[in-house]
Amino acid sequence: METQQRYVLGKRDEEGFYPVTVDEIPAGTVHRRHGSWYATMPGHPVQRAADRHQAAAHLVTLIDQGNRPTGPAPAPRTPASPIEGLRATRSYSHLVPQLRLSLANLVRAAEAMARLAELGWRPLEGYPGADQPWLMQCRLCGWKGRRFWSHLRGRNSDGIPRPITRHPGCKPVSEHAQALSDLAALRTSSCPCPPFPRDKHPMDVDACLDVLTSIQAALDGKAHMSAAIHARSILEPCPAATRRATALRAAYERHVKTQRDLKAGKGK
Ligand SMILES: [Zn+2]
Ligand SMILES: [Zn+2]
Repeated sequence: METQQRYVLGKRDEEGFYPVTVDEIPAGTVHRRHGSWYATMPGHPVQRAADRHQAAAHLVTLIDQGNRPTGPAPAPRTPASPIEGLRATRSYSHLVPQLRLSLANLVRAAEAMARLAELGWRPLEGYPGADQPWLMQCRLCGWKGRRFWSHLRGRNSDGIPRPITRHPGCKPVSEHAQALSDLAALRTSSCPCPPFPRDKHPMDVDACLDVLTSIQAALDGKAHMSAAIHARSILEPCPAATRRATALRAAYERHVKTQRDLKAGKGK
């Protein structure tokens, strides 16, 4: 039963992440949140674990299976300047830093971005998944820091954001409703964005379906750069992001149904 420990936990960084090496190979990080531990190898799904040793052991397993950290480096652990944040949201690798590249995840990211805007936050990096710390800025006061999407979006999809205190030092809670309604006035139901050298922001189900179909075709052909260019149009900040996210969800459901029908047709 006695086995030699093959991983080494490094020094905890200020965001709570411990770098892990396995047989001296950098394997990813482990971090603790709400009593659970999580193991992250960039480019692979995040794994939940009971304790830090189980989390680190998951990274050992991944390494033994021949996996290595892939894709962009983990999100920067130092606070980004607003300009860096802007640049980050304009490049694909930062739009979805650690999520597996799939239509489902891209649609989820677009929905999270839209909802985040409704709650008065500005993302400073791409949607990292619900259980990863997400660097964002409070639009009520300018505070910057990391928040967990699973915490902000409300539990059981009841739409009620928690906690009531947004972060230490924010404006008094009594002023939040007015501040949020001032922000809501800035949102639009059609895309007013100036034309960049990229696809338009799709605003109806058909346009969204076109984008999703293009992304899927690019992914099928392993053309990640091309998928990236298409994905920008659904993940970039837009004052009409709520409408875009709603249309994307409907388009995604239609896409899934079409795929299912195609498969069923082939099976006959
Ligand atoms: Zn604030
Ligand atoms: Zn737009």
